Amino acid sequence: MRCLTAQAGSVPGLCPSGNTRSRGQPPHGTQTYRRRGRGRTIRLRYGNTNTYLIRGNRGDLLVDTDYAGTLPAFYKAIKPHGIRVRDIAYVLATHYHPDHMGLIPELMHQGVKLLLMETQRDSVHFSDPIFARDRLPFAPIDETAAAVIRCADSRGFLESLGIEGEILSTPSHSPDSVSLILDCGDCIVGDMEPIEYLDACPGACPLRDDWERILRRRPKRILYAHVNERVMENEGR
Ligand SMILES: [Zn+2]
Repeated sequence: MRCLTAQAGSVPGLCPSGNTRSRGQPPHGTQTYRRRGRGRTIRLRYGNTNTYLIRGNRGDLLVDTDYAGTLPAFYKAIKPHGIRVRDIAYVLATHYHPDHMGLIPELMHQGVKLLLMETQRDSVHFSDPIFARDRLPFAPIDETAAAVIRCADSRGFLESLGIEGEILSTPSHSPDSVSLILDCGDCIVGDMEPIEYLDACPGACPLRDDWERILRRRPKRILYAHVNERVMENEGR
């Protein structure tokens, strides 16, 4: 994946749309974090979760989906970007809470492969009883069809899609939580507690361990699932 952080739409201190970075949570819709074309992170919001599509030179990677039952809204969200489901090579869940993976079985049924981290194997069915209770359309994931990799091997795997970056285990939110950090500086952290929460957690704690692991990679922008994005300035550099 090409790194395009110096391109239009990445003016320091401004979000790509030109608004100040302290703006409020955008309404449902989509937002492109990079210029048009390959090598961009696209935010897809069609429910209550910010989900992201990374366009790779050899295949796209979808990071998270919203709740079960949101497939029509997902189709509507990808359309303005010219994204076709058949271009999505893999889907990765930052973790298996229901608002991060509800469309995975339907996408797999359409040919999207599941990228499952080894640390997530025991959590794949965490949300099955929740969707059953809510009587939502959801067939449990068939993990035997997934590509299972270790975080240590994630860089090579992503490279095969034409994406430069790595996947880190960041278990402070849940044991199966992972974060994706791209070499261009975008870092998708799912439900990890915002970095500001460290002020309330002096000394050693799992959240600090996760953030230290991420900050060592010098992220430029933190993309949360439910909180406004955070543009990094000098933290960890
Ligand atoms: Zn969660």
